Order: sequence, then structure tokens, then C-alpha cells
Amino acid sequence: MEKIRYERPVIKKLESNMPNKFGSRTEYAPMTHIDGVAVKELITNFGSPLFVISEKTIRSTVAKAKKAFETRYPKVQFAWSYKTNYLNAICSIFHQEGSWAEVVSGFEYDKAISLGVDGKKIIFNGPEKTDEDLTKAIKNDSLIHIDHLDEFYTIVSLTEKLKKKPRVAIRVNMDTGVYPMWDRFGFNYENGQAWDAINKIIHSGKMELVGLHCHIGTFMLAPSAYGVAATKLAELAMSVKTKFDQEISYIDLGGGFASKNTLKGSYLPGNDTNPTIDDFAEAISTALLNANFKKDKLPLLILETGRALIDEAGYLVGTIISNKRSSAGRRTTIVDIGVNILFTSFWYDHKITPAQPFTHYSEDTCVYGPLCMNIDVIRESVNLPLLNRGEHIVVHTVGAYNMTQWMQFISLRPRIVLIDLDEKCHVIREKETLDTITSLEKIPGHLKKFDL
Ligand SMILES: *Cc1c(COP(=O)(O)O)cnc(C)c1O
Repeated sequence: MEKIRYERPVIKKLESNMPNKFGSRTEYAPMTHIDGVAVKELITNFGSPLFVISEKTIRSTVAKAKKAFETRYPKVQFAWSYKTNYLNAICSIFHQEGSWAEVVSGFEYDKAISLGVDGKKIIFNGPEKTDEDLTKAIKNDSLIHIDHLDEFYTIVSLTEKLKKKPRVAIRVNMDTGVYPMWDRFGFNYENGQAWDAINKIIHSGKMELVGLHCHIGTFMLAPSAYGVAATKLAELAMSVKTKFDQEISYIDLGGGFASKNTLKGSYLPGNDTNPTIDDFAEAISTALLNANFKKDKLPLLILETGRALIDEAGYLVGTIISNKRSSAGRRTTIVDIGVNILFTSFWYDHKITPAQPFTHYSEDTCVYGPLCMNIDVIRESVNLPLLNRGEHIVVHTVGAYNMTQWMQFISLRPRIVLIDLDEKCHVIREKETLDTITSLEKIPGHLKKFDL
């Protein structure tokens, strides 16, 4: 073990506001390894910054989620939300675990097909589906979740050309007691739009209404909202049964379960306070079992859970560039992780852990990224021990959305490494090079030369 480094003792003025009841520091021990692999070694071998994904954590999280639902409800199917993280390796893990694909664009649809997902096991959501996208989805017998009447009429006209009866569902939006309500997607329940759409679909005779879908929000902290949503979809399904004597074969509750992250402005860490997957499973299963379905006619429950299944499996490791004092004397630490690769730092107070042993004096620190932009702040205020230039940090719970919403800006995007179940590392996305960016550019002939 390394000799403890001497650090000059300091006298600290106590702040007059409320202290954190768990003590002032977020972390008491360094995180030197991820799944048995040394952070230092990861950075030496693959560069800094670096996204690291734990296959072990993904598989155990999926297993936990499946168990939470399958022990409460007899027919459950997960569908992986591509936009949450559509790296081929990551989608493949979810497909190996039995998840279908849930896509929201033609690009994501093609990605699922190219990975080898059976068209019948692709759920196609989203407000924009071109005629070309819909044609593909109809030919492949995918599940098309209709968002608006223009899409419905487009499908009607396509069926005349394609001579097929597509399998469709409608997306329903509704008041679940959580505001603001996401009412821009799909058809509203309370004002009757959803029932209108159902009647138009069934009377058209051109397509088969097989499901009802909703996705009520994201990072939802109220399991009860899902209970309300499941009850409302079940009521629509029962109305279809009563009026048309027709069964709805699945009810899709979408995604949106909160991960273990801490929303900005929260007093307590998300890890301690956010609902668990069991809380969501209990609310949804109870609502469906209490609905009026006959025992042998229970609909399949589909879940498009995204962030809650991948967030904890993702880490972003980086390196300290410098420490300095702000004009007011506050410690600021500059790291090589910018907000362009950590978009979720705009919403979350991401946990940051030093990756090497540290001394016990901590100080309120503002953590900046490397971009030449004032908004490049990873943590506004976090108690950290002194981190020296060249030392490393681990940013936790970054698996959802960062690797799809990231932006090439000022610097190039880094590698992504997957640590497998045997603690072996695999690069699953290479780092970008100058050529990655410029290969898409073209210079008009008259701009090819200049003299300075
Ligand atoms: C984004 C999205 C999901 C996944 O949401 P999470 O909040 O990541 O769980 C599921 N379904 C639809 C329709 C979506 O748009």
C-alpha cells in the first residue's frame, strides 16, 4: 500500500445551512477497479476519457427486472428501447436476454433488422414514420404503434398497395396524476381521442388492432402513475371486448422507470430514495390483475424499460487536468470529461468517485469539463478530496442516453469498452479520429487553395 500522503491541515468554517445527514462527502473509499479491472489500466490501454460498460451489471439488472414482473404477472415481455443505448453490442446483450426491439425511427428500425432481430419482434413507435419506413414495417409484420391519424390514413393507403393486414396498436396519452402531462404523443384517453382512433381502426377493416400502448414519461418517481395508466388501458381493452367482441392481445406500458441517479436539487441520493423495479411491477401487475380480464384472457404485458436497465451499468472514467481557485476562492477542478459526452449532467448530480486512495480532507468543489464553454460544468458543487493533475475519477450511472445523445463538439468522442462476465475488456466503439469527421465533409473546388 502507498504511504499516506502528508497534507497540510486546514481549519474550516462550518456552513450555516443544513448539513447532509449522511455526512458531507459523497464517497469514503476510492473506486480503483470496475468489475475487477483497474481503472488505471483501463485508461492506459484505452485512453481517457473512456466509457466503460459492465455486462455483468446489465445482465443482473435485467434478471432482477424480469423476476420483479414475472413473479407478479404471468405473461411479460421486455422490448429494448434502442434510443436509450443503441450500441450494437449493448442491444445484442438485451436480445440475448430475450428482449424484443423498441425503435422510434427508420434508422433505429434498420439497426434492429441489421442486428438480426425478427421483424415480428420489433415495436415501431414515434411520431415520424415515413411511407418507406411503414412499408418496411408492414412487409416485416412488425408491431406499428400509431401516433396520429395522418399515420393511420397513410397505413390505410399502404395496405391497399401491399395487400397485407398490418398489426397495429395505438399510443394513448392520459392523465396519471403526474404533471406536466406528456400529451403530445398518441391519442388522449380522457377527451375520447383514443376511443375514436380505436373505432376508426376497427371499422376500417384494413388492419388488426392487437395492442394498446402508452409511455407516460421518463425518470418517473411515482409507481402509482403506472397503476393509473394500466387501469385506463385495461378499460379501453375491455370496451373493445364489449363492443366488438375482440381481444386486445397486449398492453404495453412503455418505459420511464427511474434509475438510481440523483436528480439535481434532490436532498437525498437517488440510490436511497428512488422507487425500485419491484415498486413499479407491483403497481402495474395489481392494476392489470384487478381489471376485468378473464383468467385465460389476460393480455401480454410489454415493457419498454430503457434507462432503469442500463444506467447503473455505465461508467465514465476520466483524468484531472488542473485545480484552481475561482475569483471567490472556491476550489475548481478541471477534468477531461465534457458535457458534450455527459449530457445527463444537465439533469443529474452524478456521483463522482476518486479512482485512487485519497487523504481525508474534502472540500466543496466545482468540477468543470475541458470545453471552452462556460456551461461545461459536470458538478456545480460536490465534496471531494484533493485530486491531483493526472489522477483519475469515476463518474457513475451514465449508461442511459449519454452514448446516443452525445455530441461531437470541440473534441472527438472517446472509446467505449465493455467488460464481459470473465472480466475481459472489449472495445465496442472505437474513438473518433479527424477522418471520422472530415470524411463526411466536402470542399468546393474554389475553396481548395489559400495563401496566408
Ligand atoms: C424513450 C422511450 C422508452 C424508454 O424510456 P426510458 O425512460 O429510458 O425507460 C420507451 N418507450 C418509448 C416509446 C420511448 O420513447
